[in-house]
Amino acid sequence: MKKIIMYAVLDEEQPFIDAWAREHDVEIKSVAERLTPETVGLAKGFDGINVQQTIPLDPSIYPTLKSFGIKQITARMVGFDFIDLKLARENGLTVTNVPAYSPRAIAEMGLTQALRLVRKLGYYDARMDQLDFRWSGLESTEIYNLTVGVIGAGHIGGATAQLYAALGAKVLAVDPVHHAELEPYLTYTDLATVLKESDIVTLHTPLNAETANMIDAAALKQMKSTAYLINMARGGLVVTADLIAALQNHEIAGAALDTLANEGQFFEKQAQPEEIPADYKTLRAMPNVLISPHSAFYTDTAMRNIVTMGLDDVLLILNGKRPNYPVVE
Ligand code: NAD
Repeated sequence: MKKIIMYAVLDEEQPFIDAWAREHDVEIKSVAERLTPETVGLAKGFDGINVQQTIPLDPSIYPTLKSFGIKQITARMVGFDFIDLKLARENGLTVTNVPAYSPRAIAEMGLTQALRLVRKLGYYDARMDQLDFRWSGLESTEIYNLTVGVIGAGHIGGATAQLYAALGAKVLAVDPVHHAELEPYLTYTDLATVLKESDIVTLHTPLNAETANMIDAAALKQMKSTAYLINMARGGLVVTADLIAALQNHEIAGAALDTLANEGQFFEKQAQPEEIPADYKTLRAMPNVLISPHSAFYTDTAMRNIVTMGLDDVLLILNGKRPNYPVVE
């Protein structure tokens, strides 16, 4: 029986791990710790390894895994920048990741928040906190009247386009790569048209040198004053100070953010008051801004796929087959 060790296992992953192990007749050891020089020894005697972490692997780990006879590292996540691909190759370790574990998870979160904004629910909440139950002045619109602009129609942007199209909205998209299978749901156009014509602008590009700060003061000025910005991708796509100014000057109607450029300072933990940056506090106080703590991915489907897609690739490699998601440098 093959033996696989999984590092940094979350409680909610365990049922999916147990089910996969039974189905494939594989022995799996789950440990809560990350893969570090202190914990790498736990992998001795195992055939395969499956990890999830963002902190870079210590260089000593690669030859150690090799000395244990391990032939792969599977990242059960999209990002694999914590793995030094050169060291992996030098030590005969095939690297795989899980590139799209549930695009719908993120797409549905973006849609949920957009609907909350469109229906002005933050304003209702603020009124009701004051025991003011009047609705006058908070008239809303209906989603099929709206034009939605998807910036980056890949896995998540494509799923987002399909959701809005299903609700009857008109969907525009900008992406250097056109996918024929998305054409029933969206119309490809250019960035200026998306910014100018959309009632909801939803960001789904990777963060790279070209896309960093793409939503700045100039871009926000091109948007309708009634439009909403949705960022479920990466905080660095948006210049936060420019977004705050645009909101304060009523240049756009609101925003939903699952990610912030400086989220590393305080997300994913119980933060202390002094760790909370001023721009977050400003945004959080606005009734037309919704913030979630980079949790758009966090669904049961995503958890299951993260586990099973990662383990499938470990087993394919152990059986001498080509993995589904080899990482190409
Ligand atoms: P993907 O690679 O499938 O799609 C990205 C798309 O953006 C591609 O089609 C690409 O051609 C396009 N693109 C690249 N540069 C562009 C540009 N300058 N203008 C327009 N389009 C451009 O990626 P994905 O899996 O759909 O992920 C999208 C984003 O969501 C990424 O930033 C990712 O990090 C983020 N993400 C967020 C969460 C979350 O929990 N909030 C979870 C997973 C992924």
